Amino acid sequence: MQRPFLETAIEYLKGVGPTRADLLKKELSIFTLRDLLYQYPYRYIDKTQFHKIRDLREDSGAVQVRGILRRLTTAGEGRKRRLMGTLRDDSGAIELVWFSGIHWIEKSLVVGKEYVVYGRINHFNHKLNIAHPEIEAVSLSNTKQAATFAPVYPSTEKLNTKGLDAKFRRRLIKALFEKLSITHFEENLPDYIVQKLKFPAHFDALRQIHLPKSQQELISARNRLKFEELFFLQLRLLQLKLKRQRAIKGLPFPTIGDYFNGFFKEKLPFELTGAQKRVLKEIRRDLGSGIQMNRLLQGDVGSGKTIVGLMCMLMALDNGYQACLMAPTEILAQQHYISISEYLEGMDIKVGFLSGSVKGKKRKLVLEELASGEIKIIIGTHALLEEPVQFQQLGLAITDEQHRFGVAQRAKLWKKNAKYPPHILVMTATPIPRTLAMTLYGDLDVSVIDELPPGRKEIQTIHRTENHRMRVIGFMREQIALGRQVYVVYPLIEESAKLDLQNLEEGYEALSREFPIPDYQISIVHGRMKPADKDFEMQRFVNGTTQIMVATTVIEVGVNVPNASVMVIENTERFGLSQLHQLRGRVGRGAEQSYCLLMSSFKLSNESRQRIQTMVQTNNGFEIAEADLRLRGPGNIEGTQQSGILNLRLADLAKDGKILKTAREIASRILEDDPNLQRPEHQVIAKYLSKHAKQVKAWSRIS
Ligand code: ADP
Ligand code: MG
Repeated sequence: MQRPFLETAIEYLKGVGPTRADLLKKELSIFTLRDLLYQYPYRYIDKTQFHKIRDLREDSGAVQVRGILRRLTTAGEGRKRRLMGTLRDDSGAIELVWFSGIHWIEKSLVVGKEYVVYGRINHFNHKLNIAHPEIEAVSLSNTKQAATFAPVYPSTEKLNTKGLDAKFRRRLIKALFEKLSITHFEENLPDYIVQKLKFPAHFDALRQIHLPKSQQELISARNRLKFEELFFLQLRLLQLKLKRQRAIKGLPFPTIGDYFNGFFKEKLPFELTGAQKRVLKEIRRDLGSGIQMNRLLQGDVGSGKTIVGLMCMLMALDNGYQACLMAPTEILAQQHYISISEYLEGMDIKVGFLSGSVKGKKRKLVLEELASGEIKIIIGTHALLEEPVQFQQLGLAITDEQHRFGVAQRAKLWKKNAKYPPHILVMTATPIPRTLAMTLYGDLDVSVIDELPPGRKEIQTIHRTENHRMRVIGFMREQIALGRQVYVVYPLIEESAKLDLQNLEEGYEALSREFPIPDYQISIVHGRMKPADKDFEMQRFVNGTTQIMVATTVIEVGVNVPNASVMVIENTERFGLSQLHQLRGRVGRGAEQSYCLLMSSFKLSNESRQRIQTMVQTNNGFEIAEADLRLRGPGNIEGTQQSGILNLRLADLAKDGKILKTAREIASRILEDDPNLQRPEHQVIAKYLSKHAKQVKAWSRIS
């Protein structure tokens, strides 16, 4: 009986007992020894070494230094009173500062004496300091290299006040490891992988992550445990993909016929880019394979995803099937409808449109023509997913702007056909970092358009603060005089909608003074307007009647006005990176040099500054997506919440791309050679997977 030991209730661990066990359960969900073991430290107090004061940097984190206390003075009055000391070693000096407990600390310290100091480095007034450091006179116990690499665990105030503090937790972990041995664990990775990657055994990694003896030990333990997380995640995703490929037959599209060829030869208004051609080939291969396609198409704003989508739809038509294209908003769906109708002009293909705004007789007609097969291509919003919508034979479903469709919504598409599900092509509005794509869409195939159509001029992005407003206005005048149009975009975030609206209206009025009628005309569009008014204003901008469009982010996706060459974004600091990139993508669509002006206040938070810098430095959506992930973490990126990747304990998709790539490669090689995990060396994996099968239900079907 090996396994049950870890399932022992926490109260039976030495030093716990029923009362403390209750607290651990309530506050940290620690019920068993296993729970205790698998909650890892989130940082460590490294007292194994002393830093030279000269080497300290703003981002050094928590450090230990040793030196002589040179000065100790108080300053300020009342609540601003503070105690300051200077600690000097043979390389330099650093300030120590206390804001409370001053009296007691001042009395206990002696100027001229040598101390060991531990604390977090802060940056204040261009100087480094340590606030409220741990400080102890030098003694044998704090200078000898004792095992003082101490783990710190997530805790709660309640636990701390009840004495279940950091020290207590460390004692528990030590008590636990005294009882544990390698016999309580089953290795979950095959020996050959452990050897190849030079990992510690599972049990050793656990001990080393809790009680590391050195930085190196900690790193290798963490790498091993991160690899485990990512490896099993990828293995499951790839298994799902395999299973789907085996179990779900796809509609075979053997033919490339007149629709596709006719369009290609006579209608296609430009040469496809190399990337577009490659992606079409990848999709063509899927559609001909007899397996259902589940493919994600990634491409930067303006990279030409629509035409690729359209040509795939023509493949469906060539084989006697219908196709649909679904967009998340009415405006975007309409734009697709217009541009696809234009592309197909003169071809004998009936294109339909369906959204919530199509009602009554019109709706009835669309539904009839769709069911009879007269409509070959239908474009619309999620209204297409609703129950009464019946296809004659849906062969291909494309969803544009992926992020806004929920998992459940997409699942409905599957059910539109009685026998075989349609092929699915998902097109993203914004590129997703590679690591996220591998995990979020790990069971889909991925195609990437990594090339923009030729002749595009790089958009110039410039950051301007409030005090430059007059220059910005002047620049807008110049551009308008050249015949161009300008967007001015204001943030609109739900919870402060009223204020934002006021902001927008004031901006509009200020602009009206700078750009008076009759020399200038300004459109205004925001989410609170009636659709008809919105369309009217939009139309005036599209046909060039107005030179300036003042808007909220409703124009974020889709809108295509090639003559607009200037995008002014107000309160830039309030936008997310991918949103900014989307907005910028509204210009640079014509032949003219385009500009994006990011307006912000003078004072900016560090993160806002980095976001703006990223925008100024690069036009590449993939680089921007990576930066976004680094700055905000996966939890804040749309689409991740439902995916299960947030359950990762250790691995960080922004930082652990290399481990992820290795994990995916190894997982994929294993499944290629041994799809059912039957080889003896893979038994450890199979066993582990079946034991943990429950956890994955939540995200087992992504499309
Ligand atoms: P997105 O990938 O952002 O959806 P679109 O499909 O809207 O991009 O394409 C952006 C613009 O580029 C459209 O006006 C389209 O006609 C044009 N375009 C697409 N492919 C090419 C190409 N190969 N050569 C020239 N222009 C192209
Ligand atoms: Mg698009």
